[in-house]
Amino acid sequence: MKSQPDAPLLAVEHLTTVFTLGDGREAAAVNDVSFSIAKGETLALVGESGSGKSVTALSIIRLVLPPGRIASGRIGFDGQQLETLGESAMRAIRGRRIGFVFQEPMAALDPVYTIGYQIRETLAAHGLARGAAGKKRAIELLDAVRVPDPARRAREYPHQLSGGLRQRAMIALALCAEPSLLIADEPTTALDVTVQAEVLDLLRDLRRTFNLTLLLITHDLGVVAEMADRVAVMYGGRIVEDAPVRTIFSSPAHPYTRGLIACVPSASGSPAEAVGPSGLPAEAMGSLGAKAGRLVAIPGTVPALGQLPPGCAFAPRCDRRFEPCDAHEPPAVRAGDDHTVRCFLFGGMPSSAPREIRR
Ligand code: ADP
Ligand code: MG
Repeated sequence: MKSQPDAPLLAVEHLTTVFTLGDGREAAAVNDVSFSIAKGETLALVGESGSGKSVTALSIIRLVLPPGRIASGRIGFDGQQLETLGESAMRAIRGRRIGFVFQEPMAALDPVYTIGYQIRETLAAHGLARGAAGKKRAIELLDAVRVPDPARRAREYPHQLSGGLRQRAMIALALCAEPSLLIADEPTTALDVTVQAEVLDLLRDLRRTFNLTLLLITHDLGVVAEMADRVAVMYGGRIVEDAPVRTIFSSPAHPYTRGLIACVPSASGSPAEAVGPSGLPAEAMGSLGAKAGRLVAIPGTVPALGQLPPGCAFAPRCDRRFEPCDAHEPPAVRAGDDHTVRCFLFGGMPSSAPREIRR
């Protein structure tokens, strides 16, 4: 058989997920989204709150609940098409082949059972280990996520753990079945700065030890600089820019991406340099993550679902907008090598609009 070294582990194509609004209209929270992640790669999905990141993640694992539904698109995962898979086959993939970690560990951990019990149950549910072997494996997993004194902690309940330890326990749960893809949705957002840095550090190590492919959702560009190989920037349910991490920081194309990067201050005065591909020292990253790394400095807010403007969703906030932007949605065009962008500044002008592009 021909080997396919470049086949992506996850390939999302033209994914559209809609919610039925109170007035009966359907609105797309995720709109024609395509991206892929190669084995071993980390893709950061970034954007402000409300841009559609979590709905994208939930769509991949088919956990979008009514009034939401996947309206169209394909989700290829390791040779299978998840969008057509039956629910029982999907259950075998969720948690087992695709692990997930959420922002709020309390949502995933059951308050009435000890951490160790929950890990043992998960191992048993996946048919991986039972009894004494399960107990031993649970402690190993807690140790792998750097929970100190794991044998003792295994006997504790979620509320007895600090936020950081709870998040580690959730990561241990997510890794029980040694999934090939880990989806981490804002895994450090709810944590203190120092704990954030530790958990990121842990994720980076686990990526190696567990040979993980990572879809990392964040609104923190500091996290992106530290962790990502590629970046997909999301706004108004669409991916507006997609490029390798170096390109995103050295030559961002979309005015939205440029705005996000300008929000990250630097000691040297050059934002792109400060958060460059080599990353920053952990202490600096920590403070970035807590304060300025958050995407807060672009005036205006993400439009609510059902209230997206007719043209480019970012146009109302964009300082570079010109004639076509309010009326037409920009298609994805090439901004460079391995770099796509949805912005008329880079082409894709509708034939009815003026051809001259102001820069
Ligand atoms: P992000 O994770 O980027 O902050 P989300 O993916 O959670 O954003 O949400 C994208 C959009 O979908 C938002 O406008 C949000 O209000 C809407 N949305 C998310 N979940 C629901 C739901 N269950 N019902 C209605 N709208 C929803
Ligand atoms: Mg979210």
